[in-house]
Amino acid sequence: MKIVARQQWFEVQRRDDAISLIHEPWIRPFYRCNLWHVQGRERDLLIDSGSGLVSLREQLPWLTERPLLAVASHTHFDHIAGHHEFPERLVHPAEADILAAPDGDNTLATAFVGDAMFEAHPECPLCYAEYRVRAAPATRLIEEGEVLDLGDRVLEVLHTPGHSPGGISLWEAHTRTLFSGDVLYDGPLIEDAYHSDVEAYARSLARLRELPVRVLHGGHFPSCPGERMRALIDAWFAAHPGLA
Ligand SMILES: [Zn+2]
Ligand SMILES: [Zn+2]
Repeated sequence: MKIVARQQWFEVQRRDDAISLIHEPWIRPFYRCNLWHVQGRERDLLIDSGSGLVSLREQLPWLTERPLLAVASHTHFDHIAGHHEFPERLVHPAEADILAAPDGDNTLATAFVGDAMFEAHPECPLCYAEYRVRAAPATRLIEEGEVLDLGDRVLEVLHTPGHSPGGISLWEAHTRTLFSGDVLYDGPLIEDAYHSDVEAYARSLARLRELPVRVLHGGHFPSCPGERMRALIDAWFAAHPGLA
């Protein structure tokens, strides 16, 4: 397996509205988590923290030059393994126990971490062979309807279970931007994890379908416009007769 220097492990892509995508391009697309950095006047938001194989704080020191809220869209390994590096950690109460005591089973790491996940390994082969997610107990629990105030912008917490019980989406009404984690993205969705619930999944998607979304930033795969998002949801319901 090709080995990549730590300095080349992350890639940052600036988007509009002071939003940046951070990801790990040497992880294959299906496994590659989108980390979303949202810059506010008083504090910033980091939605998800990736595989944890390489230190985010060491490679991207600008992340912690300002106050930062590290939110977990949910607690699968590909979304939370960097959370222990950040002092303010937010999660929905339904998955707070996993963030506090992650293991290979409850984070899905045992099921998914393997050679198929990688185009290349970072230059720390031991951290791959001994892969584990470090505990990062929440410092704040966030529930349906709460607001994350960044100073000049606010994001509303929507509880969107189905992929996992504590899955949240974050909705910025002002820019009509939706961050959806793994409950919705433009790629194969997972509704059969050990704690998935397909009926809750249907309710969450029906709810997101009603939002006037302009752009969707999901937990994996490229972002898409609202029309594409609604088409994805319609296709999901077409494939799940009886859940509409
Ligand atoms: Zn997930
Ligand atoms: Zn994921």
